[in-house]
Amino acid sequence: MPWRGEKDPYVIWVSEIMLQQTRVDTVIPYYLRWIEEFPTVYALASASEEGVLLLWEGLGYYARVRNMHLTAKKIVQQLHGEFPRTPDELQELPGIGEYTANAIASICFDFPAVALDANIKRVLARLVDLDEPLANKTALNKLEQFAGNLIIDANAGDVNQALMDLGAMICLPSEPICSICPVQNYCVAFNHHTQHERPVLRPKKLIPEYQVVAAAISTSTGNGMFLLAKRPNGGLLPGLWEFPGGKVEEGENDLQALQREIMEELDTHISVDFMLGAYKHAYTHFKVVVRAYHCQLQGPPPKALEAQELAWVRCDEMNRFAMGKVDRLISRDLCSSVSE
Ligand code: SF4
Repeated sequence: MPWRGEKDPYVIWVSEIMLQQTRVDTVIPYYLRWIEEFPTVYALASASEEGVLLLWEGLGYYARVRNMHLTAKKIVQQLHGEFPRTPDELQELPGIGEYTANAIASICFDFPAVALDANIKRVLARLVDLDEPLANKTALNKLEQFAGNLIIDANAGDVNQALMDLGAMICLPSEPICSICPVQNYCVAFNHHTQHERPVLRPKKLIPEYQVVAAAISTSTGNGMFLLAKRPNGGLLPGLWEFPGGKVEEGENDLQALQREIMEELDTHISVDFMLGAYKHAYTHFKVVVRAYHCQLQGPPPKALEAQELAWVRCDEMNRFAMGKVDRLISRDLCSSVSE
């Protein structure tokens, strides 16, 4: 991991934020590109929003990158470019929660804090063979106490990073590789043969799946341009560009949903030519199936009733507009259908 051995709080902060909800092997190329483009907090603070979003595109959970941009500006403008050194002060910055604050403070400033994220909790639950769900407060207290006892003098950063690496590379969620584990002798779950039953999980909630339609709208003159809308700053995928559309409501078919959404979002109407494709994607609390259609504008010029702004974009310009995963796939299929 390219950030291991670093004590620069900017570098550790970038890696920790990228690693939230994201696997190490996915993060590494993004991290390397990021550090090359924005090597310091000053470089990030002075970057454009569009540039920051484009570099993050594909990593998901876009609130993370928006908060990073805000935090970088705050550190430069209000803290003379210096990261705070304690978990409490770090948690006052946008997007830095208890785990990240403890990780930065312990790794960079030798602060004696235990950093407990889902990976470390899993490792600890196996090491002590914890037989209750992690969501229980008593379970968390036991893990905090156990991890706290591992910290001696100024080694909190080493303890936290060792647990992070063990969780990322050996003590994996479904298949822990106990045969090469350096702490096998101390692992109570391994000795009790219960490592596959730890941590104890609560039954999973059913995740709803929504049907969604999206319109790749060209002008009726067919000048090779398509309409993109910039999403509002609050909510899902803030500030990213998308093909207009939305959820199919109960009792609607796709064409009815498209006309309604286009009227609500753009105050105009369209004709629908053909379907470009169907795209599945899972967010944290729900899943979507997005069906995208090639359409033509038939009404008055669209208005940005819900979007921050609208843009007519040619296919060879689409890559300059930061998008979520599904819209990027739609743009690729759209542009290859246009060039055929
Ligand atoms: Fe995880 Fe197995 Fe190591 Fe225990 S012995 S910490 S279950 S990898």
